[in-house]
Order: sequence, then C-alpha cells, then structure tokens
Amino acid sequence: MNHDDDAAEAVDPKVIDLLIQSAVPEKSDHWRELREQYRITFHLIADRKGVTIRARGNRIEFDNKSLTWLWLLGFAGWKAFCLHGPHLVWGAMTGTNSDRSLRAVDPTYAEATADLETVLYAVREFPLVQGIEPDAEWPEKVPKVQSDKTGLDIQQQAAFDLTMIATAYILLHEVRHVMFNCEKVRPSAVAEELECDAFARKFILDNAIEYSVASGQKIEEVFAKRAAGIALGSYVVFGFTEEHAREGSAYYPPIADRLGTLFSYVDLPADHWFWNFAASLLVSIIVVENTAASIPCLVGRDLCVALVETIRQRHKFD
Ligand SMILES: [Zn+2]
Repeated sequence: MNHDDDAAEAVDPKVIDLLIQSAVPEKSDHWRELREQYRITFHLIADRKGVTIRARGNRIEFDNKSLTWLWLLGFAGWKAFCLHGPHLVWGAMTGTNSDRSLRAVDPTYAEATADLETVLYAVREFPLVQGIEPDAEWPEKVPKVQSDKTGLDIQQQAAFDLTMIATAYILLHEVRHVMFNCEKVRPSAVAEELECDAFARKFILDNAIEYSVASGQKIEEVFAKRAAGIALGSYVVFGFTEEHAREGSAYYPPIADRLGTLFSYVDLPADHWFWNFAASLLVSIIVVENTAASIPCLVGRDLCVALVETIRQRHKFD
C-alpha cells in the first residue's frame, strides 16, 4: 500500500451499479441499499506488482492491470470452452476418455489451442510487472477492454456477458470483506475467504427465479448463465493465484475448494451445456499443466467434481 492509494478518487458508483444490474437485474435496489448502508466506495489505484483487487476499510480498490488481467482471463475461459467443449461431448457420446490422441485427430484443435495459448501468453508476466507496457502485445482475437458489446461478434458477446458476471462475482466477494471490516466479529482468514465466495455466489444465484419470471426467460437458462459466470470467476481466481499459494495457506483455502463449491448448488441435467462449460475450464487448467492428461469419461457434476480432485492432487501439500 502507498499513501497515494488514500488519495485515489472514488469511481462513479453508477459504473458499479450498472455492472451489478447487468449481472443480477432483480437485485439492483438491494445492491444500492447495501452499498449505501456500508458506505462502500470503489477506487482505481495505480498499477503495481501482483493482483490488486482488495477491500480496505470500506473501500474496494483495484488497478487497471488487474481489471485487464480479469478481462483477458475471462476471454481465455471462453476459448477454453471452444477448445475442450467439443471433445467432452464426443467423449461422453462415445464412452471414451478424452486424451491426447483424441485431441490430436481434431483438425481444429491446433488452432483453438493456439488461440487459448496466445491469451495465456499475454498475461504470463502480469504477476511480476508493475504495469502493462504501452506497446505490450495484445492477443489478436480478443477485443480490447470495453464497457459494452459494441462491435463484438456473437462469440465475443457471450464471452463478454460471462466476464461481466465473473467481474461482479469477484467484486461481490470483496463487498463481503468490507462488511466483515465493519462488523465486530469475523471468522478465521480461511473461513472468511470461503464465506466471501459464498456471499457472492448467493447474491448472484439466489433470486434468479424472480428475473426469470419478470423477463420470461427459462429459469434453467438464467441460472445456467449466472452459474457459468461464477465458474468463470473461479477460473480467473485460479489464474490470479500464484502457483505456490494454490495448495492453500493460513490465509487462503486450497484453490480446489474455491473451484468446486459451486457445483453442489447447481441442479441442472447432466447433459446441460453448463457442465460442459465448467468442465472445459477445469480441463484447460489440467491440460496446460500436463498436455498428456487423460480426462475421465464422466458427465455433468461427476465430471466436474473429478476434475477438481485432479487439480487438488496437483496443488497439494507435500
Ligand atoms: Zn478475499
């Protein structure tokens, strides 16, 4: 922290209100009341090393580098879905494990892999650098950070929508930290992290039925889209977390806990696209670390839970 952080002016709250409204329309009023009750303010502070999205007192502070990082990882998640989604469906239909040989016979696999790797390559130095170099290379197939969907193609629009829900999820996590900062008692650091995740998850999912009724959209689809945004938010958190911290610490739960909790709250059929999306994110994490990995022939929640366990074994206390 430096003293300039205290001087950073507050972001117009309407910007945050709009973000929350787009992700969770039925909670707009509730959100504003909460923001006012806890006097929560949002501040854009100077770029620095590592990831900076944090709660300090009643302030939520973030830097431009971290928001750009979040955006790029959001689009990386979508590319992971494009890359692995088809193989997971194929594996389920044919009853085979999705492994390197299955992936290798797909003529589009190399290009889709390159698309994802280009985005991951663009963020590789983000943990270490102070800020983003003005001439830093930008992945060709990812739009620059923007506040609406103007000019985006259909896939980019989908990636945008989910990235906004992921952003709301990550900010709502910090909102719960602010609430703890204002309350007299707080749990242990690890329990607080999980509680902040739970708060953000519930905020986004719990009243989806109200929006479904008001908008005429099927509850299953409203819920699935929001849950996918939360899964993407967890994927971003994984990307934000340094390798050595993924096994957990006195301050943070194991990353596998944060990736896996969502699934017990999702009651969608095993063949629903949500599971394919969430599994694609997890497969992407696994395959980036081990290109030879074999993905078990499971579907739905069972597949996602198995993949989280694979990640847990990989990032485990020795
Ligand atoms: Zn936290």
